[in-house]
Amino acid sequence: MAVQDQFSATYSDARGKFLAGCLRSGTPVTSHPNPTTGPLGEALYTDVTRLGAAEAERVVMVISGTHGVEGFCGSGVQVGLLESADAPAVPAGVAVLLVHAINPYGFAWLRRVTEDNVDLNRNFADHDAGAYPDNPGYNQLAAALVPQSWDDASRAATQKVMDDYATLHGQFALQAAISVGQYRHKDGLFFGGHRPTWSRRTIERIVGQELAHARHVALIDFHTGLGPYGYGEPICMQGPEEAAFARARAWFGEDVTSPKGGSSSSADVQGTLAEGLFALAPQAEWTAIALEFGTKPVPDVMDTLRADAWLHNDGDPGSAQGREIKANIRDAFYPDEPQWKQQIWARGTEMVARAYDGLAGSD
Ligand SMILES: [Zn+2]
Repeated sequence: MAVQDQFSATYSDARGKFLAGCLRSGTPVTSHPNPTTGPLGEALYTDVTRLGAAEAERVVMVISGTHGVEGFCGSGVQVGLLESADAPAVPAGVAVLLVHAINPYGFAWLRRVTEDNVDLNRNFADHDAGAYPDNPGYNQLAAALVPQSWDDASRAATQKVMDDYATLHGQFALQAAISVGQYRHKDGLFFGGHRPTWSRRTIERIVGQELAHARHVALIDFHTGLGPYGYGEPICMQGPEEAAFARARAWFGEDVTSPKGGSSSSADVQGTLAEGLFALAPQAEWTAIALEFGTKPVPDVMDTLRADAWLHNDGDPGSAQGREIKANIRDAFYPDEPQWKQQIWARGTEMVARAYDGLAGSD
């Protein structure tokens, strides 16, 4: 299969390719039905398959679609791992767990969030703690970030609020205030939710079914939208002083970054999927990265998220303006271009091969 053909035009197209790949490689699929449907009424699923040794204690876990619309990227790599003659060979004693479209609603609707407007990568907060971390920066910007109308006048007025914030605090502080996560504005951006989403409960089920015997897990969670075009930044959630961070560098390369250490294009976000996974299979030693592929400049990407939030709060996705907003957000998270796909596949397989080597060397 040619690299371009591994990538898809829609969620349903991606799912079809993933299932066809499972069929051809003879790996069994478990499908988890999402309670919602796509924009064309299509059924939505998270699909899971497993390559390699059945009872392996060493597992590479590859996740696509944590942020819905970002799923085109990871799906293309997962399909290649099933179909491509250039996929790195799975070593003896290692299994590969492919979780396709863990947020299928967001993938199908071209949104970063789940069906409840929740950022899955902020949803692994402790919802029983009685209080959530506050985000004063976001509170200050909330009304401007997702205004009640989306036209030239409201965009100019709200852009000024953000520009003023950036002038006062710096551009990265603006990005951090918006993106670290917030638990107060349910119609806003990067909202972590007030309960576990369907996607979180589904990943909990998958871990229970698939990782009970695992002693070593390498996690590669595919993302897009931050950093240089086509470059895949390996982001490690642990702090630079932790052994897991040193291991991530040894396995995935010296360019592994740490938001906690301030070396990443990402802010130090809270309630992440990775943290959730570590807690779900604490018997395993986790070596984990989010692999973040750049698309467009951050302000352009943020703009599409603001427009999309407005659209689903107060607009009509079927209108001409709605279709334009959808085209823009798709473009911001999935540059549908041959060169970008080649870069994703090359970097993705490099990281999978590194995970194989790291697992093979662990005891
Ligand atoms: Zn993401």
